[in-house]
Amino acid sequence: MTDTRTIQRLDSAHFLHPFTDHKALAEHGARVMVKGEGIYLWDSEGNKILDGMSGLWCVNIGYGRTSMSDAVYRQMQQLPFYNSFFNTTNVPAVQLAALLVQVSPPQFNHVFFTGSGSEANDTIVRMVRRYWELQAQPERHIIISRKNAYHGSTIAGASLGGMAGMHAQGGPGVPGIVHIGQPSYLEGGAGMSEDEFGIAAAGWLDERIRELGPDNVAAFIGEPVQGAGGVIIPPKTYWPEIQRICDKYGILLVADEVICGFGRLGSWFGSELMGIKPDLIAFAKGVTSGYIPLGGVLVGDRVATVLTEKGGDFNHGFTYSGHPVACAAALENIRILIDEDLVGKVARDTGPYLKEKFGALREHALVGHADSCGFVAGLNLVHTKGATVFDNIVFDGDDGVGMICRGYMFANGIIMRAVGDRMIIAPPLVMTRDEIDEMVGRIRAALDDTLAELKRRGML
Ligand code: PMP
Repeated sequence: MTDTRTIQRLDSAHFLHPFTDHKALAEHGARVMVKGEGIYLWDSEGNKILDGMSGLWCVNIGYGRTSMSDAVYRQMQQLPFYNSFFNTTNVPAVQLAALLVQVSPPQFNHVFFTGSGSEANDTIVRMVRRYWELQAQPERHIIISRKNAYHGSTIAGASLGGMAGMHAQGGPGVPGIVHIGQPSYLEGGAGMSEDEFGIAAAGWLDERIRELGPDNVAAFIGEPVQGAGGVIIPPKTYWPEIQRICDKYGILLVADEVICGFGRLGSWFGSELMGIKPDLIAFAKGVTSGYIPLGGVLVGDRVATVLTEKGGDFNHGFTYSGHPVACAAALENIRILIDEDLVGKVARDTGPYLKEKFGALREHALVGHADSCGFVAGLNLVHTKGATVFDNIVFDGDDGVGMICRGYMFANGIIMRAVGDRMIIAPPLVMTRDEIDEMVGRIRAALDDTLAELKRRGML
């Protein structure tokens, strides 16, 4: 079973993929990835592809790290599994909890482990409500999130998320979750400076809290930079104002750092860059660079003190909470991040370099806007550029211009994701300046090809 066609046939016959139209997939067959090294992937046809998405926002240390496989191998031989229920623990889980406390902001001294980012957010919903029950305020149960947020695909994750397409499927979600608008300057900022818009967008939280009654609101949750929603980088005034509003009403502030954690924005956690002090942080992805699944919740002192001192049993947990092999992988991954100063490099060197080079794509005829924050970046494909970003003429959403462009990205040996007509990247943190030049060159070539194709189709 090694030739591409056989694998594709079996894939399409038996493997139900996430977020996939299987009828469409069956027509052309999946791309089969077979190998990774550094920032590159190889498919089963021998194509070498630069991975601009770090797998799925997770392979921060790059592919092919043998010290990761060594760490996992050693732990599998020593103790492949034991649970952390019933007053037992294991060495890598304890070591990892202690290390996470060291690399996270000072208010965090406790960790709850899960198997994924979705499970981390499910844990947060139950933990936040448990906290308010223990504080004798059980009526504080409503969690406020944002439209176009992504918080996972479990029932609580999808309910917390603000993706209309997800809410439309699978029946009713978890009650007691409401959504406010996202801080997208392009979408809502016309007539305002970015700073003014940041304050206005945070004000939607204040308004909603007053509508709901502050005594009914448990928490606000948001991604420091929205990822799956299309790399929405908020104005710098937004998060401090959100913090001020949460503090004013005594509401818990939750940062979903499944993407932003572990150096993605050039800080260990995105909330540090945004200047906020969350009570809870959801993490996953970059904690192991995706080599083995692991997620969790960093639990700040405000919540941990109540849970541990008043709590009794918190009736919640997973078979794989504190999985020794996953924790061993995370320990090695964090060692690499620290020893190679990957977070500092993104902050001081390669992040600013990416901003300059990626930002220069604004000059391309198809690009109406391009921005970045650390090692996430996005550009908007537009039909006609206007005097300001608010005067750009966009394509009809049904024309699928983003998907056409994504196809040309692959053809030019680069993986870039399309969210509507916004093209986004989140490259591995190990990417060098030369590799950034190569990536931006490939993106530019793919944009040229897209432009030519749109002209051929009479869409421009
Ligand atoms: N939160 C955010 C911000 C995410 O980006 C994701 C995954 N893309 C999740 C939660 C869900 O994580 P997982 O897929 O590991 O369940």
